[in-house]
Amino acid sequence: MANPVKRHSKSRKNKRRSHDALAVPITSICSQCGEPKLPHRVCLNCGTYKGREVMEME
Ligand SMILES: [Zn+2]
Repeated sequence: MANPVKRHSKSRKNKRRSHDALAVPITSICSQCGEPKLPHRVCLNCGTYKGREVMEME
């Protein structure tokens, strides 16, 4: 099996991993206000979940 001759530096490893963070795809629309929201999460725009207010909004 081929093996790397030298190990890569922490700097090189970290620079490669700087692009690894995943963007969260928005796959759900709030049924109350129509804004995009994360599935199975309270809507951050109107503070409702399953048609019920669960969070005080200003
Ligand atoms: Zn909403």
